[in-house]
Amino acid sequence: MVQQPLQDSFGRRFSYLRLSVTDACNFKCVYCLPNGYKKPDHEQGPLSIHEIKNLVTTFAEMGTIKIRLTGGEPTLRNDFLDIVSTVAAVPGIQQVAVSTNGFRLKQLAKPFRENGVTAINVSIDTLDQKKFSEITGSNQLPAILEGIEAALAAGFPEVKINAVLMNGLNEDSLANFLAWIKDKPVAVRFIELMPTGQNKEFFANRHVQSKALIDDLTSGGWNVKQRGSVDGPAQEYTHPDYVGRMGIIAPYAKDFCSTCNRLRVTSQGGLRMCLFGEGNHPLRDLLQDSSQKEDLKLRLISLLQKKEISHYLPEGRYGNNNTFSSMGG
Ligand code: SAM
Ligand code: SF4
Repeated sequence: MVQQPLQDSFGRRFSYLRLSVTDACNFKCVYCLPNGYKKPDHEQGPLSIHEIKNLVTTFAEMGTIKIRLTGGEPTLRNDFLDIVSTVAAVPGIQQVAVSTNGFRLKQLAKPFRENGVTAINVSIDTLDQKKFSEITGSNQLPAILEGIEAALAAGFPEVKINAVLMNGLNEDSLANFLAWIKDKPVAVRFIELMPTGQNKEFFANRHVQSKALIDDLTSGGWNVKQRGSVDGPAQEYTHPDYVGRMGIIAPYAKDFCSTCNRLRVTSQGGLRMCLFGEGNHPLRDLLQDSSQKEDLKLRLISLLQKKEISHYLPEGRYGNNNTFSSMGG
């Protein structure tokens, strides 16, 4: 039996897997799927529960303890709760996080809790309903906010919010978010807009660095929080007068890659070693039967030797990431 952990040639260990369970989405976020999702002709269906179980079992045996289920919009899958309970039952998996646009959260919050979800991330770029509709093509902000209340009522200790920072669209939304999280266990994390194959022009017009936001937080008395070993890339901030937390995800920041602890698998079973890398390495042929586990481990070990030390975003290279929705972003 292969005993090696998931480790690259720079000594980084991968305790965190982001697994996309579908490329499909019902929103049209301007930075992700501005024209909406269209199913490519050639594509196989997404990984089945059986394939997901084989994948996650192998990763867990190699040291992965946290799985994030993402997409596309993962809750569009009818069997999503079964996926959650299957993943949560894999020995070694300690945390099952879900990234969602929140459109079904009100109904799903309690079943999530009962089926083993340990953390929920919801994308909300602004609390202004009109701007929210402009950004996402959806008028469901009130229902999404109710979903967050439902998650807290169901016993989730907190909910994380992801807000993509965009010049001229929401870079002035800090005050609204701060008022909202004053007495609420919600962590709002601003993500710097990232370039993809599909959003070049949008990126050129809307990308703004988070420095001004960080200055506002620190001058407002927010303090940097220490990162844990399976935490994602956010730098979080706390404030003695606030129940909620703030955070920044800045992929261009120095040291962003040195703390990399995560791998991605696409809904088609392709390993992505970096969000901004070139490779999409098929694993699906080794997910068909649990007896293929050892071969899968050997393939993963060999692939990880090729993981690069960092992305090359500052040089303008962002790999073959066409859109986050197909990448488990
Ligand atoms: N549909 C779910 C959602 O929106 O949370 C899960 C998938 S979505 C691709 C995951 C995260 O990627 C969201 O928080 C979204 O805002 C973020 N995202 C998508 N495209 C992005 C981009 N170009 N730059 C930065 N973040 C992006
Ligand atoms: Fe859909 Fe999430 Fe992409 Fe928005 S960010 S289009 S909700 S996958």
